[in-house]
Amino acid sequence: MHPGLMTEESLHTRDLVELENQYGAHNYNPLDVVIERAQGVWVYDIEGNRYLDCLAAYSAVNQGHCHPKILKAMIEQARKVTLTSRAFRNDQLPLLYKELHELTGYDMALPMNTGAEAVETAIKTARKWGYKVKGIPEDKAEVIVCFNNFHGRTVTEVSFSTNAQYRDGFGPFTPGFKVIPFGDAQALEDAITPHTCAFLVEPIQGEAGIILPPQGYLKRAAEICRENRFLLLADEIQSGFGRTGKLFAYMHEGIKPDVLIVGKALSGGFYPVSAVLSSWEIMRLFEPGDHGSTFGGNPLGCAVARAALRVLTEEKLVERSAELGAYFLGLLQTLHSRDLKDVRGKGLWIGIELLSPARPYCEALKEEQILCKETHDRVLRISPPLVITRNEIDWAFERMSRVIENLSVRWLCG
Ligand SMILES: *Cc1c(COP(=O)(O)O)cnc(C)c1O
Repeated sequence: MHPGLMTEESLHTRDLVELENQYGAHNYNPLDVVIERAQGVWVYDIEGNRYLDCLAAYSAVNQGHCHPKILKAMIEQARKVTLTSRAFRNDQLPLLYKELHELTGYDMALPMNTGAEAVETAIKTARKWGYKVKGIPEDKAEVIVCFNNFHGRTVTEVSFSTNAQYRDGFGPFTPGFKVIPFGDAQALEDAITPHTCAFLVEPIQGEAGIILPPQGYLKRAAEICRENRFLLLADEIQSGFGRTGKLFAYMHEGIKPDVLIVGKALSGGFYPVSAVLSSWEIMRLFEPGDHGSTFGGNPLGCAVARAALRVLTEEKLVERSAELGAYFLGLLQTLHSRDLKDVRGKGLWIGIELLSPARPYCEALKEEQILCKETHDRVLRISPPLVITRNEIDWAFERMSRVIENLSVRWLCG
């Protein structure tokens, strides 16, 4: 049938997958589940099947899907005003600034939309600081980054990616980055030059497969930054807002990065909202016209973010993540399978590393009504919305153990 003749009611999963494949760029390889609605930890496909979401849109929906309080804030704001541009002021942005300050302790924020834009903004911040404050000669600033990093998909961000596919065909690349191994403080010291303006790092590497650095690494990195006078930029776009059992992952080490990059759960999944947070000393370097975004700081996004932050606090989601994460990790660490290499995590952010590709496990878990996504081929990332209950974890664990134990038998025998 010609797609134009289809009525919405007649569309099945197969039809929509075909439409998507025909008319959309194939820059993703999604599981063939077509989600139509969602609530809390549960999503529903167009055939009415229910699944437990163990990805939470890469931690953008920490507050759970379609949280009623965020929804209410969004609808109410959408009725009033959605976009003013920063040419004028709006009544939501100052309140979001103040609430972010009260929640995080950072003096000031610069609002953007996507995570990638916030990382770009942080890099611009660090370079500006390098030239204006540290006195690095023009165009010489260097940012140190880590092997296996993920900071987004802009040309500059893939310029310092160590994933060949992320770079292939996208050059020429932005200069000024130096890659060192993750978790190795000595490597950071060795990479410093007089032109170093920043160290950009994920406190726990997410896309790389939930890689936890050795304890004390971040603390030592923060000291090295301070002693050698360059900025620590923490990318907490995925690890932030409770995912690891603390408000931010850097808090596990009792440090405070000079620049904090947030996104994803800042909006509870309703709308792209990101921000760069820092001190007055650093943020004051931005002058009118230096940087901007048409949608950044818009009243709709700000109202959504304010509600998303309120939900995080009111529902004690950070504490939930710590407690239920430890519980879930404990269960998963009892799994027995010869295909299991490692089960690790922090808070409700768990990586199950396998000896074989993880994709067949994702497909099998989908049949058991659990949605998760492989990362880096051999890691299953388990990161449900933080509103998940103990009962739901038990429910998920029972299915996961069945899948992991059965599949590994098949793999080892086949
Ligand atoms: C998702 C993510 C980004 C990019 O965010 P987008 O909103 O997809 O642009 C950057 N850094 C980290 C650590 C992320 O997880």
